[in-house]
Amino acid sequence: LAAGEYGPEQNGRVIAHFGRTLDVRPEGSGDAVRCHLRANLEGLVTGDRVIWRAAHDARDGVVVARGERDSVLERPDARGQLKPVAANIDQILIVFAVEPAPHANLIDRYLVAAEATGIAPVLVLNKIDLLPEHGGELRALLARYEALGYPVVTTTTERDGGLSALHARLAGRTSVFVGQSGVGKSSLIDRLLPDEELRIGALSKDSRKGTHTTTTARLYALPDPDDGGHPGVAGGELIDSPGIREFGLTHLDEQEVTDGFIEFREFLGRCRFRDCRHRQEPGCALRAAVERGDIHPERFASYRRILDSLEDA
Ligand code: GDP
Ligand code: ZN
Repeated sequence: LAAGEYGPEQNGRVIAHFGRTLDVRPEGSGDAVRCHLRANLEGLVTGDRVIWRAAHDARDGVVVARGERDSVLERPDARGQLKPVAANIDQILIVFAVEPAPHANLIDRYLVAAEATGIAPVLVLNKIDLLPEHGGELRALLARYEALGYPVVTTTTERDGGLSALHARLAGRTSVFVGQSGVGKSSLIDRLLPDEELRIGALSKDSRKGTHTTTTARLYALPDPDDGGHPGVAGGELIDSPGIREFGLTHLDEQEVTDGFIEFREFLGRCRFRDCRHRQEPGCALRAAVERGDIHPERFASYRRILDSLEDA
């Protein structure tokens, strides 16, 4: 190719972005290429699938189109407006720990926020090395979420093999970790990406210089434990940033909260009053379901508490 010309269109995925410059990983190859955005393209985020073309010297390229998004994770910007921060995520891993002990209400809040994105949530209970012999209450709590259909994975960073259930869950999917500070997200990610080279090595050469300053989301290919630790889809992929870890504590509206309690769905629309808010109204199908035992009273209490917190805000 002559200077100024571009090669054929190729598929790729955005693994990092810095304003109008992005790192794109070509499909089926590990080395990222530093790309610029064609003028009419905007709002690309880490995880986006793109069509790009290599420049004549093959050292960089241009992104010419964005592919369809299966999902998008949004966060409020400084002015409180929702902005996409990552795309094409298959699952949100909600991390909580034996210590500090989780409140069911907080787990419900994360689940509601995840449901609002349409991305599948997975509960990860970390620090199970600290779980007392029987750990009855916590196990009962987990069983309740499993009964609702949510996958639950237990982990510990304190033992060899403590992440094996997590590895199985990550394989072949793109995931994000969210959860309160202190539950062990950094420790888990350090274990999943033990090699510093794996963390920055995937980036294009141009990006490596600036990696320590970027706080935007990055996509990491996780090593596949069955393939000598080589990074690849079989090991799963992880999108991470400080902002993503804080996902879930943003504003939700009443409709999102109601829809986010998945076991409520079959009862919604069956209340006597179409605009029932499930408080004192006669003929409320949700409250009847709680009384019959079809909805767990703690989940209903959690629902009420989340709605009350919206009104206070
Ligand atoms: P983050 O704020 O969610 O990123 O949590 P960190 O990864 O910083 O972990 C918080 C604390 O929990 C640190 O002192 C870790 O050493 C500790 N920790 C992390 N994972 C485990 C675990 O599986 N078991 C125990 N006992 N401690 C852990
Ligand atoms: Zn009702």
